[in-house]
Amino acid sequence: MKYKKNRKPNIILIVIDSLRADKLSCYGYHKSTSPNIDKISEKSILFKNAFASAPWTLPSHTSLFTGKFPLKHGVDNINNFLDNKNITLAETLSGIGYDTIGLANNGWLSKSTNLNKGFNKFYEKPKKNSNLIEMAKDYIKKKKEKPFFLFMNLMDVHMPYIPDKSLFKDFELDKYNKERINYLQKEFVTYRVFPEKLSKEDLKILNKLYDASLATVDKKIGQFNNFLKKEVEDYILIITSDHGEEIGEHISEGIYGHWLCLYDTLLRVPLIIYDSKKEKRKKISKLAQQHNLFYTILEYCGKKIKEKKLFKNCKYVFSEHEHPKKSIEYIHKLNKNFGYEDIKCAKKSIRSKKYKYILYENGKEKLFNISNDCYERKNLINKEIKLKKKLKNKIFKKLGHFDESHSTKNDIKFEDSIKKD
Ligand SMILES: [Zn+2]
Repeated sequence: MKYKKNRKPNIILIVIDSLRADKLSCYGYHKSTSPNIDKISEKSILFKNAFASAPWTLPSHTSLFTGKFPLKHGVDNINNFLDNKNITLAETLSGIGYDTIGLANNGWLSKSTNLNKGFNKFYEKPKKNSNLIEMAKDYIKKKKEKPFFLFMNLMDVHMPYIPDKSLFKDFELDKYNKERINYLQKEFVTYRVFPEKLSKEDLKILNKLYDASLATVDKKIGQFNNFLKKEVEDYILIITSDHGEEIGEHISEGIYGHWLCLYDTLLRVPLIIYDSKKEKRKKISKLAQQHNLFYTILEYCGKKIKEKKLFKNCKYVFSEHEHPKKSIEYIHKLNKNFGYEDIKCAKKSIRSKKYKYILYENGKEKLFNISNDCYERKNLINKEIKLKKKLKNKIFKKLGHFDESHSTKNDIKFEDSIKKD
């Protein structure tokens, strides 16, 4: 990447909450779920293998905003508040002359978690599908002298999946029982804690609802992109997600949604960077640790960064799920008999292009050949002893050992946020 000296492009960072990469047509999905994003990607840099550092909203956004792994920024299931000693992206951009604005519908992104840190304005509107894009347009229309950094978290593909009704036919949802569809849209909290209640047909419906929800937000992005082309001269548009979604791939392990595991369904996220001054179609296959976007954005804005981290060769990517103490307490309140012991502990993962290794705090280990087992179902841990040792050591070196204290600090009430995780 070469940048014009003193260039200060406007930065628009869109996080489509819970969007996994393999569901977009430009990432190879067989259905046309994202025609507008596909079109943008044709003039952009598309990272085929970008991975979030955590599988749920709060730690993943915090990593994106600080450029650090969860272990380093310390925001997790137990500690929900970003310590002020962490410098955020918005803060840094504000310091070099940017106007910074955040628009979010997700309850975790607010002053109660300190993730509004550094934004000149931060609008928390904890209602799904409110018109954030219209708010963004209004903000952009008010011309200003300073360049701007605009962050938006869109909740359209987050549970409950409520797509535009006009898309029901395109995604064959009109063939299913309306009452069942309504139930699946309304009762997502129930089947997250009673996953065994979901039938095969339910999972089919949920997958279709998810696809249609993606098509719904894709339409909005297309319209917003047309607006940007007309109204903004110099900008970088970044489309990504904070984590993916499990939609039945590991239901027998008790997993639905986005928590409690480190499978690729939750970690592989889209990452598309469009530069209005340098349109270019480029697909990058090498691994990218998504939170390094922090440095890449700063570099686009003229900050000198030693390493171009997102673009440099990366042999491994890492992710962590801290001890889910509060999640488990919450689950047990609703379902005393919730089993699935393996998912109730902390875990860490390392992934190369070919292998994925997951280490659980209870000592369990899993190793997958991801190149031919993309849903991570065939555990090879007893066959690849040497490789397992090597990957385990790399995890400890990069992410440290498990913290067994699980101390509680800076609490916010977990029940208030669970629906928006
Ligand atoms: Zn999220």
